[in-house]
Amino acid sequence: MAHRTPIVGGNWKMNTDLASAVELADNVVASCSPFVQHTDIALFPPFPYLQAVGKTLGHHGILLGAQDVYYEASGAFTGEVSAAMLVDLNVAVVLTGHSERRHIIGESDELVNLKTRAALDAGLWVILCVGETIEQREAGQVDDVNVRQLTIGLDGVPVEQMRQVIIAYEPVWAIGTGRTATPEDAEAVHRVLRATLADLYDESVAESVRIQYGGSVKANNARELFSQPNIDGFLVGGASLKADEFAAIVQATAATNVSQ
Ligand code: PEP
Repeated sequence: MAHRTPIVGGNWKMNTDLASAVELADNVVASCSPFVQHTDIALFPPFPYLQAVGKTLGHHGILLGAQDVYYEASGAFTGEVSAAMLVDLNVAVVLTGHSERRHIIGESDELVNLKTRAALDAGLWVILCVGETIEQREAGQVDDVNVRQLTIGLDGVPVEQMRQVIIAYEPVWAIGTGRTATPEDAEAVHRVLRATLADLYDESVAESVRIQYGGSVKANNARELFSQPNIDGFLVGGASLKADEFAAIVQATAATNVSQ
């Protein structure tokens, strides 16, 4: 089986202020730096704090991430932020298709695809998020929804750019609810996503792309989730706002990875 470096992201969403963002980043550097040898770690602060958080992350090996990106290069797009602007700020990785952008802001699969392609073209890593709502799960549409979001999200992405791509499976009903998918349910969807990557590309791409799980991941459930063969790390919301809790989640991936 391919070796996949685990990856854990902390999505701060629309939380913190300037002082607390810098303090949190500082505490994450202190608690997580020892793990960067084994696990890729990224923080996703709000846009206005990217530069300050980036400065705090310095050269400790923790990646600076952005929660969103626009697909146009420049021009009359009030309020939007281009991929080149993010690169200017030393952003290394962006989220696309996060469920809050799909379901609160109303982003379509096609818009997610445009953003994904623009970010990849700028040389950024992309965490492409997919996931079904509770209604879709109850209607037996889990695989259909996730395969569709993945397939459209990656439409037109050439195989050479797939090394910049990470997928996050985030069931909408598990995000911020305290309700986590069971390791078996998450693993089942991760397997389907990996099989879809093999269909869209080939086995070697499918084996090398990292697939994170997201949805109420905490220190006390990370290890069991990570023990599943197709779960390669986590995208963490609420628990990433506490440096100790986030570090414990990172440690769960690093410890398992080291002992393999
Ligand atoms: C997220 O925002 O991607 C997320 C998974 O949030 P939470 O961990 O709070 O469920």
